[in-house]
Amino acid sequence: MENLLANQVALVTGASSGIGYGVAKALAKAGAAVALNYHSHPESAEQLADEIEKNGGSSFAVRADVSDPSQVEKMFDACRARFDTVDIVVANSGLQKDSAFGDMTLEDWQTVLATNLTGQFLTTQAAVKEFRRRGQRNNSRALGKIICMSSVHEVIPWAGHVNYAASKCGIQMFMKSLAQEVAPEGIRVNSIAPGAIRTPINKDAWNTEAALKKLLRLIPYGRVGEVEDIGEAAVWLASDESDYVVGTTLFVDGGMTLYPGFADNG
Ligand code: NAD
Repeated sequence: MENLLANQVALVTGASSGIGYGVAKALAKAGAAVALNYHSHPESAEQLADEIEKNGGSSFAVRADVSDPSQVEKMFDACRARFDTVDIVVANSGLQKDSAFGDMTLEDWQTVLATNLTGQFLTTQAAVKEFRRRGQRNNSRALGKIICMSSVHEVIPWAGHVNYAASKCGIQMFMKSLAQEVAPEGIRVNSIAPGAIRTPINKDAWNTEAALKKLLRLIPYGRVGEVEDIGEAAVWLASDESDYVVGTTLFVDGGMTLYPGFADNG
């Protein structure tokens, strides 16, 4: 994967932790210059940017709330100021506000939709405008590449998480409709749907032995995913190696979407 993304610029939202952090690191290792978006705490994004620069790459951290149009615009301005443009955009920021349906507040519903769905709308719309503004470059066959971070919950229903599942199911049709609309211009839009990846968002599901045992029953491949699993997938999906992959969700889930409950004759 070394140099697969040489001379390309990537922006990763929510890059200060978990999957975004892992994806940003992998894109940088593949040769991309990387802008690292963070929401509130700059420390780990700035530390990763330093690490990338010390290893000979280019990177900087940029603050933005992806649910706020003016902050998203400023984030792209910062990318243009530092790197002239952007070639790869990974719309990764996301959160959960879980509760039983009857107890779910309108605020928790709206916060999840605002970040997980509207945040991806704003980020990818700014990306499409930027790709169009600067035109074709000679560093990739595509005019630009967008990766939406979805979830296995774009297809697996999830009681107690209707806001999150609705947002990720929304991403499925958002991504496909956008891909259909902009593919004629050479813009490739795809999603990655992670299964259970070891990050802060789902700590309760893997940080005790009992929780881990319960979680592993849902994963035929027998292990929890790591952010590197998603990083490798993102590098491939952002590179010309996947140039004919358009409008697809790549499930990276250890088989979680294989209905493991039916493995033993149901
Ligand atoms: P995480 O909590 O470590 O990362 C989420 C990131 O999003 C954080 O960096 C956070 O600061 C950022 N963020 C939240 N609200 C934001 C906002 N308004 N503006 C900008 N950034 C914001 O969790 P993660 O597991 O790394 O999640 C990353 C993505 O992967 C999410 O979209 C999540 O839904 C998805 N995902 C995760 C898993 C998993 O098992 N960890 C599985 C499927 C999908």
